[in-house]
Amino acid sequence: MSESILPLTAVAPAPTPTPVPMIDLVEQHETIAAEVREAVEQVFATQRFVLGDEVFEFEREVAAYCDSRDAIGCASGSDALLLSLMTLDIGPGDEVITSPYTFFATASSITRAGATPVFVDIDPVTFNLDPAGVEAALTLRTRAIMPVHLFGQCADMEPLWRIAVRHNLAIVEDAAQAIGSTSDGRTAGVLGTLGCFSFFPTKNLGGAGDGGMITSDDRDLTTRLRRLRVHGDAGRYQHLEVGINSRLDALQAAVLRVKLRHLPTWTLQRQGNADRYEQLVADSGLSEFIDLPTATPGCNHVYNQYVVRVRDGRRDELIEGLRARDVGCAIYYPQPLHLQSCFSSLRYQLGDFPEAERASAETVALPIYPELGAERQELVVQAMCDSFGISVSRHERTFSLPHSGKRAA
Ligand SMILES: *Cc1c(COP(=O)(O)O)cnc(C)c1O
Repeated sequence: MSESILPLTAVAPAPTPTPVPMIDLVEQHETIAAEVREAVEQVFATQRFVLGDEVFEFEREVAAYCDSRDAIGCASGSDALLLSLMTLDIGPGDEVITSPYTFFATASSITRAGATPVFVDIDPVTFNLDPAGVEAALTLRTRAIMPVHLFGQCADMEPLWRIAVRHNLAIVEDAAQAIGSTSDGRTAGVLGTLGCFSFFPTKNLGGAGDGGMITSDDRDLTTRLRRLRVHGDAGRYQHLEVGINSRLDALQAAVLRVKLRHLPTWTLQRQGNADRYEQLVADSGLSEFIDLPTATPGCNHVYNQYVVRVRDGRRDELIEGLRARDVGCAIYYPQPLHLQSCFSSLRYQLGDFPEAERASAETVALPIYPELGAERQELVVQAMCDSFGISVSRHERTFSLPHSGKRAA
């Protein structure tokens, strides 16, 4: 019984290493909780929950942020893609070219519209649709190209535009992960015919639930989109066509308007974290084991995800090592879409898109959320070194970086 009188410190287990979560939305919310609460209470005071002024104002703010003439709120990023295809009259018998290495909703929006997704392999460096493969995939049924600005970096749009113009195709940007990213000075969302955004909570601009937005400069398309999201209602229950119910809620818009004001800061923090990873990895000897994301010149990468490629088939070993050390990580995406069983009727098989398949097998996403900061990034890099058994003396590494994300002079 003598143990029971020992002071607590004597029996306490060794302290566990500080865990680094993949993402921590609580920490961010704490910094804006008062603003959010006030905005939400105002919506309750009006009792206008679907569309309304709050949504209209948010649409104007997103349009301004993206340099787009108009923006139309809807229920999710997935619906933004579907509505875009609907307003372009894309349906049964039509083909849409897209990437097999993306979130499921990119391709399923095409299927939901009744059209057929046609996959083209990705560029191994950017993970985005490789324009070189697009020309070869064109048929008489091709109606649109749906590039994805994956992980927060714009797809290679100029060659896609050249193909689109030559063959009279629309371009629907899946910009769900890329709000605020730019390509040669132009913003994601206005690089195609229509731009689709998601406000899923883990996106760079994340709401308190589902939400989405479509940006476009084309008045005919946006006028029709405003009908399509309310059952095709042209006003006073006059239905010119059958639409869907896909609207943005006022509560979401109120929360998102608050968060949009902080988005530029959060984006800079993500980019600062990316810079810091680069230096930490360069100083650690990890460069022989992993390849870091590459920001294409002229692109403003907004790092919705920070995805590294692990060499020599050691990806799963790294993941195990990180998990054992309480460091969050994730695989985006473990199975390319052409191999999903729901698309088996499209008759793709293993080997059809080697780069997408390789990316699925070799990549892992590390924590990159804005509030992550130097200390936790050092833990991530340390955990990676330990996972690979890199035995460089810890004293040789310079983990004491300034918090600005810039290298010390
Ligand atoms: C999140 C995401 C979507 C879907 O958005 P939801 O709002 O979740 O419906 C579509 N495409 C990509 C690339 C995404 O990351």
